[in-house]
Amino acid sequence: MSQARVPPTSTADRGVSDDRLLRSAVDSLTQGFAVFDGSRRLQAWNERFFDLLDLPGDLRRRDLALADLFRSLAERGDFGPGDAEEATARELERLFQPPHPAHFHLIPGGRVIERLLAPMTGGGFVVTLSDVTDRRRAELRLIESEERYALASDGANDGLWDWNLATNRLYLSPRWKAMLALAEEDVGDEPSEWMGRVHPDDIEKLSALLESHLAGHTPHFECEHRVRRSDDQYLWVVARGLAVRDGLRRATRIAGSLTDLTDRKYREAQALHVALHDPLTQLPNRALFLDRVAQAMARAKRAGKSSFAVLSLDLDRFKLVNDSLGHHQGDELLVGVGARLSGFVGAGQTVARPGGDEFAVLIEEVAGPVEARALAERLLAELGQPIAIDGRQLVVTGSAGLALYEPSYDRAEDMLRDAELAMYRAKSLGKARAELFHPSLHGHALHLLTLENDLRHAIGRKELQLFFQPVVSLKTGRVAGFESLVRWHHPRRGLLGPNEFITLAEETGVIGQIGAWVLEEACRRMRTWQARFPSEPPLTVSVNLSIRQFNQIDLVTEIVETLSRSGWRPGKLKLELTETALMQNATRAAHILSQLKAAGIGVSLDDFGTGYSSLSYLHALPFDTLKIDKAFVSGMSYERSKLEIVRAILLLAHNLKMDVVAEGVETIEQLAQLRALDCEYAQGYLFAPPLDAEAAEQLLSENRKW
Ligand code: C2E
Ligand code: MG
Ligand code: MG
Repeated sequence: MSQARVPPTSTADRGVSDDRLLRSAVDSLTQGFAVFDGSRRLQAWNERFFDLLDLPGDLRRRDLALADLFRSLAERGDFGPGDAEEATARELERLFQPPHPAHFHLIPGGRVIERLLAPMTGGGFVVTLSDVTDRRRAELRLIESEERYALASDGANDGLWDWNLATNRLYLSPRWKAMLALAEEDVGDEPSEWMGRVHPDDIEKLSALLESHLAGHTPHFECEHRVRRSDDQYLWVVARGLAVRDGLRRATRIAGSLTDLTDRKYREAQALHVALHDPLTQLPNRALFLDRVAQAMARAKRAGKSSFAVLSLDLDRFKLVNDSLGHHQGDELLVGVGARLSGFVGAGQTVARPGGDEFAVLIEEVAGPVEARALAERLLAELGQPIAIDGRQLVVTGSAGLALYEPSYDRAEDMLRDAELAMYRAKSLGKARAELFHPSLHGHALHLLTLENDLRHAIGRKELQLFFQPVVSLKTGRVAGFESLVRWHHPRRGLLGPNEFITLAEETGVIGQIGAWVLEEACRRMRTWQARFPSEPPLTVSVNLSIRQFNQIDLVTEIVETLSRSGWRPGKLKLELTETALMQNATRAAHILSQLKAAGIGVSLDDFGTGYSSLSYLHALPFDTLKIDKAFVSGMSYERSKLEIVRAILLLAHNLKMDVVAEGVETIEQLAQLRALDCEYAQGYLFAPPLDAEAAEQLLSENRKW
């Protein structure tokens, strides 16, 4: 318990009770209190005064010289040795020098004492000491953080703000206003000058962060947000601030800085965009697509139902477009396709370009396989509409694969991979179609990959073999020529028919070499046979041309060169093209056909009736021969309508001065019907299947008549 030592004289005329009252009041102060007279001797004090200075009891006496008090303070062991001791003594002396303003002093033990000094008349003075350690520490912390923020923020470029929470006035520095392109006089000191300009999407976050700091939950306030400039453009900024608190830790003020982040945000957004988008189409790339799929997966897992699908789409024969039209138009086409797909699925759905001519769609909200497939088919139909590229109308088709979400999926990659497998399946089943993923496809994909690798080596290893199927003249009943049909002796899988590898050869570009080999081989064989079994008219040979070759720039030159090398007459070569090949690019088709015609080479329209079956272009394109697909031929005998179609095709062809080959003739009945319809040629198992060179030669030597 401290006790006031108040000189009786000062309160003598007020009586005992006043004296006691004063004494207990002085004792109860948390401050230390001492009165020194003009000769700097102690006259009155309370215990707290000595307690705060941590001085021994023998000093607590009247008339104690201030100098002795200093000495005692300085001599105390815990002041440290030497210079430090002297320095401390000087410091202490200053503590009590009259003209010196109130200041802080740090004494050993880590406490901070604040001194207030009030001079009295007659040269004496009153000293009050307060322990301000806690407050001082808080302020030191504040200074430290402020320094940190001063360093962190960009000095001169930052706007400053100071919000007095008691009066709710907001000071904004000229730089703050300049950042928002606001004139000094346009801005008041209402907090709404700032808050009212915050982007609606950011205001909630800003308020929450501000409140949480004011409530003391966060050591500082920091918030990236957008503020509207006077020109209504939004500016990305970061606001940083620190609250100033009263003794009860209540925030009374908060002040800080505002830094313009527009450049940084822009660069960040740019970098992010570049990292996550395909530079050509600006569509999300594989990484972003997978991220979206992963999000959809997480949602589906939470909802506990399968509700979305991943669609992988690959343009059919895109390489051809690139090769024949050039990369620029190829690029344009990809952009066009991307835009069309985005338009089809609508906003909110993700269309991505994972690479090459592949696109991917995240189909949200799909009820099941039936709905997913229907949607994929609508999408393919939409894709199949002509696209205008540099003034031309291009028709592209695509093959699509679908993977429906199953809870067993854990990784987005797996879903996309499965969709891609299904897409490969769609391609191998004839393209321009959609397939659903099935686990059995895993093996299938591997199979395709190996096959592709093998195919690249097939020619070099002499694994290809050309077969010949006789084309019989229905007028003479004799072999008029052959259709050459390629086979592949696969080292492990045996003899493969073209349906098992031509599509792959087209997709991989190997078809170019295969086609050249086939043409060369066909012409070479035919010349030998024609020499050994001369006939009048001479034999013809039909060579199938893939769409991929058809789009090759120097196709006609190459064919003409091969012909002259092998010594085969152009007029005895017939190139077979399918409708699909022509429809890809009718303008180019017309151009090539006229070039071939000019070189004297014959052209046949193969598989007529299976593709677009549009008769209109037959007028425009100069075919010599039309080959009726075996689907019509085989249906003729039992389906009246098929017979009528064949009759109509024959009439039309003859009108256009084309002759007709009926494909897939297997029965005598079909042969009779075709003869009755004046069909010129027939081909099929009835006469002979595709034969190897030896067997074909044997057939010629027999000179058979049907
Ligand atoms: P394509 O040009 O329509 O050839 C006729 C196909 O029908 C051949 O199948 C042939 O074996 C088959 N065929 C012939 N007569 C009959 C018959 O009476 N009944 C039945 N059921 N089928 C018959 P292949 O040899 O499997 O060829 C399939 C397709 O592969 C060809 O159809 C052709 O488009 C393509 N192809 C064949 N060789 C080549 C080639 O060297 N280059 C290119 N690009 N494609 C080729
Ligand atoms: Mg053919
Ligand atoms: Mg055919």
